[in-house]
Amino acid sequence: MAVIRLEIVSPNQVIYSEDISMLIVRSTGGELGILPHHAPLVTGLLPQAMRVKIAEREELIAVAGGFMEVQPDKITVLASAAEKPIDININRAKEAYMRAQQRIEAFKEGAPESENIDITRAKTALQRAAARLKVTNTHIE
Ligand code: ATP
Repeated sequence: MAVIRLEIVSPNQVIYSEDISMLIVRSTGGELGILPHHAPLVTGLLPQAMRVKIAEREELIAVAGGFMEVQPDKITVLASAAEKPIDININRAKEAYMRAQQRIEAFKEGAPESENIDITRAKTALQRAAARLKVTNTHIE
């Protein structure tokens, strides 16, 4: 079966380096499925649970955002942060999620503190936390 190398690097380490069958990502231009021999491409990445297929198996990796470069035999993801499920602190992600959600609610309600809330920052923090919770299969009410 044809494979393509996937390397995910964050500022301080290589998070992932494997031969895979397919990568499914949320790029800034929409969802993309990358197979071996894909045409060269560079795109931005949104915070997400990245789906990595290896033969019949699927792995999820949390990516906080960054860039992806595709070459026919190699995908390089330069992530601001990325984690495999086993490396995620679920409580930390839950707390980040709730903090972001509270900020977004306060902003919507026009609460007194809302003028100090950076709503775009709160929304991306929520997406990063949601990606971490998704890859660890954690549900939050
Ligand atoms: P927090 O508010 O909890 O810091 P964040 O989304 O702002 O979350 P990032 O800026 O995306 O965090 O990441 C900063 C560093 O912390 C990165 O090295 C990232 O891998 C790590 N990190 C963030 N959240 C978690 C988590 N829940 N479990 C493990 N590592 C995490």
